[in-house]
Amino acid sequence: MYGAILGDIIGSPYEFDRGNKSKDFPLFSPRAKYTDDTVMTIAVADALLSIPDGNMVTTAREGEVLKAVEESMRRWGNKYWYAGYGTRFRQWLRSEDPQPYNSWGNGSAMRVSAAGWMFLNHDMTRRVAELTAMVTHNHPEGIKGANVVASAIFAARVGWGKDWIKSYAENNGYDLSRTCDEIRPTYHHVESCQETVPQAITAFLEGNSFEDAIRNAVSLGGDCDTLTCITGSIAEAYWGVPEELKEECKNRIPEEMVAVLERFDDVGCKR
Ligand SMILES: [Mg+2]
Repeated sequence: MYGAILGDIIGSPYEFDRGNKSKDFPLFSPRAKYTDDTVMTIAVADALLSIPDGNMVTTAREGEVLKAVEESMRRWGNKYWYAGYGTRFRQWLRSEDPQPYNSWGNGSAMRVSAAGWMFLNHDMTRRVAELTAMVTHNHPEGIKGANVVASAIFAARVGWGKDWIKSYAENNGYDLSRTCDEIRPTYHHVESCQETVPQAITAFLEGNSFEDAIRNAVSLGGDCDTLTCITGSIAEAYWGVPEELKEECKNRIPEEMVAVLERFDDVGCKR
């Protein structure tokens, strides 16, 4: 999940469309800081780690996953209240009876990365990814965004390659026909899965290293922290994250988030 968090941090100064869209920028500007994307990525990881024997998630246990994800997101979200959530998500965090609100926002895709790392097969990866979306983002596009991103992470880490990832995204209805150069001029701040996930995947596909993919994502503009978070989550699974960037990541988030990351490294991705 370092890739997702680094993407969030690196993209954060550019969240609201800057004028100059280029790949040439300081990786950590003075304004770079973690946002809601990091808090929720950690929350989902923490939830999935709390379920004993995670590979045994079956239909009968789906309720257990939903409950763990809901509880963890509300606990972390209320603790880190000023991280930059959308209005409806804030209402959900504070509600006494939280219900999914049919969102297709890109939040389901930015928080899902843990699901991409935890399971031994694609079917389970996909199903758990969908469950992490459904507690809030139960619109088909919200669920799809989580599925496609977690599936891309799974595919990247098991070596299925970029062609599989591209086909899977396209078979799920995402248009990947435009290059970053073609997307850049007209792309603007938009918070839907439909207009974030395909762009984030394109930035990954065109990249030639973790950092290059991150720079592609930032150069597109738009909802930059979330877009770059998604690109970074896939890029990590494909190229790995350089040690110095992992250190930079740990230095820029609270101790208790580092603890989740480290627990995840120890247990989560070996399941
Ligand atoms: Mg954000």
